[in-house]
Amino acid sequence: MSRIGIYGGSFNPPHTGHLLAAEELIRALKLDQLLIIPAADPPHKTIAAGSPGPEARLAMCRAAFSGIPKVEVSDLEIARAGKSYTVDTLTELKARTPHDELFLIMGTDMLLTFRLWREPEKIASLAALVVMRRSENAELWDQTGREASALQRDLHARIVTVKNACVPVSSTTVRRLIAFGAPDYLPGDVEALIRENGWYLTGAKLQGLPIERLREISLELHDEKRRAHVIGTAETARALAERWGADPDVAYRAGILHDITKALGGREQLHLCDQYDMMLTPFQRENPKLLHAKTGAVVAREIFGESEELAQALWWHTTGRARMTLLDKILYIADYMEPNRRFAGVEKLRALVWTDLDAAIYHGLDLSVSLLREQGRIIDPDSLEGWEYYRNRTERSEPL
Ligand code: FE
Ligand code: FE
Repeated sequence: MSRIGIYGGSFNPPHTGHLLAAEELIRALKLDQLLIIPAADPPHKTIAAGSPGPEARLAMCRAAFSGIPKVEVSDLEIARAGKSYTVDTLTELKARTPHDELFLIMGTDMLLTFRLWREPEKIASLAALVVMRRSENAELWDQTGREASALQRDLHARIVTVKNACVPVSSTTVRRLIAFGAPDYLPGDVEALIRENGWYLTGAKLQGLPIERLREISLELHDEKRRAHVIGTAETARALAERWGADPDVAYRAGILHDITKALGGREQLHLCDQYDMMLTPFQRENPKLLHAKTGAVVAREIFGESEELAQALWWHTTGRARMTLLDKILYIADYMEPNRRFAGVEKLRALVWTDLDAAIYHGLDLSVSLLREQGRIIDPDSLEGWEYYRNRTERSEPL
C-alpha cells in the first residue's frame, strides 16, 4: 500500500510556492508519490481571461516539477476535459489502485468551502483531506482548525493539517509581475517556456495600444474591487481635460493606467523598483505600499510605451507636488473625487473642480495632510511642499 498525495489546481502558472509546498508535503506526509493534477476547468473559479490553455498549463507543470523526486504530473483531469470535479478524479484514482492511501491536498481557503464541493461526503470517504497553509495568517489558520473539527464530526472526514513553510504568493501576482516585465517566483524552465510561447502577454505588443484594448488589458491586471474606481477616474479625467483644455484621450489613458500596479503587495513593489533600477528615498522604502504611483509610472512608460508627460502624472498622483502640470492636476483630482469616492468633503471638491482647479488641488492636499496629521502619520515631503505651494497660490482667492 502506497501513500499517494494529490495536489490539484489551475497552476496558472506553476511557481516556486507550489514547488516548496510539494517538497514539504512529500516530507511531512511521508508520501511515496505526489500527483500534480492541473485542472481542465476548475469548478470553483474561472481561469483568468487571456491565460494559456490547459495543455500549456500541463507543459508548464512538467517543466516546473521535473526536478522533484516522487512527483508525477498527471493529465488525468485535462484528458477528461470539462469541469474538473475532485470527486470524479478520486473515484478514477481509487479504481486504478484500490489499495493505495490517498491524500487530497488543499489550501486553507478550499477547506473552508469544502461543504460546497460536489459530493463532499464521498470525497471524504475516498481520501484523507490535507490542509496546508498558503499564508502566515494566524487567524485564518485558527478558523481552518475549527472547520476541520466540524468536518470530522459531520462528514467523518479524516483531516491532516500540515503547518508548512510557504511562499506567500499567488499565481495572480506572478502573472502580474510577468506582464510588468519583472517576472519573479518562476522556476527557470517555466519562464523560458512562457517566453518561447509568448504566454501571459510576453508576446503581446503593448506599446501604443488603442484605448479600448488598453482599457481591457489594464482592467485584467487590476483586482476586481478596484475596476470601478479605475473607470471612474478615467472618465472623470477625460471630462476634466475637456473642461480645462488638456488632451481628453491622454487624460483617459492616464486614468486607466494610474493604479496599474496597485494590486501588488509591498514586497512586489520593491521587486519592481529593483528590476527597473529606480532610486528610492528612505521614506519610500519604508512605505512600499505608496510605491504603486512610482512603479505604475515606470510600467506605463516601459511596458505600455506612454509618454513622459503621462508617466509623470502617474508618478505624482498619490502625493501631488508643487508646480503640477495640467495633466498632473487632472489625474490627481480625478482620482480623488471620481464618483465612487465617498468621504466627508468630497461634494465640495466635486463642485470646486469645475470652477477653480488650483483651489480644488489645494483642498485635496489639505484634506490629505490634515488626515495624516490627525492620525499621527508621517506626511510625504512632496505632499507637504505641494500643500504649501497651493495654499500660497489660493490664499488671495475665495476662502475654501
Ligand atoms: Fe493610486
Ligand atoms: Fe486610484
